[in-house]
Amino acid sequence: MKVVDIIRNSKGTEFSFEILPPLKGKGIKSIFEGIDPLMEFNPRFIDVTYHREEYVLRKRADGGFDKVSIRKRPGTVAICAAIMNKYKVEAVPHLICGGFTKEETENALIDLNFLGIQNVLLLRGDSIKSEPYFAPEPDGNRNSLDLIHQVVNLNNGIYLDEEPSGTNATDFCIGVAAYPEKHFEAPNMLSDLNFLKRKVESGANYIVTQMFFNNSKFLEFTDHCKKMGITIPIIPGIKPITKKNQLTVLPKIFHIDIPFELSDAIEKCTDDKAVRQVGIEWAIQQSKELKNAGVPVLHYYTMGLSEATKQIVTSVF
Ligand code: FAD
Repeated sequence: MKVVDIIRNSKGTEFSFEILPPLKGKGIKSIFEGIDPLMEFNPRFIDVTYHREEYVLRKRADGGFDKVSIRKRPGTVAICAAIMNKYKVEAVPHLICGGFTKEETENALIDLNFLGIQNVLLLRGDSIKSEPYFAPEPDGNRNSLDLIHQVVNLNNGIYLDEEPSGTNATDFCIGVAAYPEKHFEAPNMLSDLNFLKRKVESGANYIVTQMFFNNSKFLEFTDHCKKMGITIPIIPGIKPITKKNQLTVLPKIFHIDIPFELSDAIEKCTDDKAVRQVGIEWAIQQSKELKNAGVPVLHYYTMGLSEATKQIVTSVF
């Protein structure tokens, strides 16, 4: 079922979460171990992130260098198929522009369609570590708008190599990302919102937000969206802090603020267990408030570790 239909048919706030494919060498069991504990809470969909390969240059005996792929993770198409097959729950693959030509993207979409996967979250992706700025492939999509355009074309039966036929049209439901605290490359909030509006006008069906720790930022953001005529469902992303170093790592990677009240409480913790408890209590409070505010879905970033999310949803649902 499409995410938008799940939301349309729902009587209250639904539960969903995101998992991260494991590093190379691990099997599907490691994914199932992260999902199993959360199945009793009836997640309506499970997102599977995509991660670009990273490369290092290794010196050869002859003095030259080889480009070697590291931190490779299995592809999302196979993982989504395995999840849907085992749990009969919708799996939502994340598709990014970075590292893919349009043809490779089309091939992935053909596979997803063949497997009956109806939802996709379309993203630009970030630059790889060796690049100062995001650089698309020469024949690739430059940003999420391009990628939306490609999927909308397929939904209209327009493939890269053919005249429009309409006969083999796909029917993907399109999710996109948004940032209650602004995307780090956007010059200001208004231009970021204008760009989000273009994503919606181009065919996005629903929005999932970056994590945030201050609900008023999310609620202000949804107000702005409404005023600008963005009326598709907006799903908040929630992440519990579980380690003290996340106080600096999360703002650095995700360009988000952590409220003083939360950072102060975590700073005062004397062990990891106490940090986890503070982080989980904060996420429970956030989730309850957002549920009362009527959000369609509470979407949790598990990072492959389900225990903290389990504690939260036990209190919230
Ligand atoms: P875009 O929507 O393309 O926007 C990127 C920036 O460019 C914004 O600042 C936008 O305002 C600006 N911009 C782009 N084009 C224009 C234009 N024509 N005019 C004006 N402004 C423009 N990354 C991964 O690698 N894998 C994942 O699985 C993944 N999952 C994510 C899930 C969620 C819910 C979120 C919120 C993020 C995720 N990311 C993931 C991170 C994401 O790839 C990065 O945040 C990336 O930098 C931006 O992606 P985007 O799709 O929001 O970009």
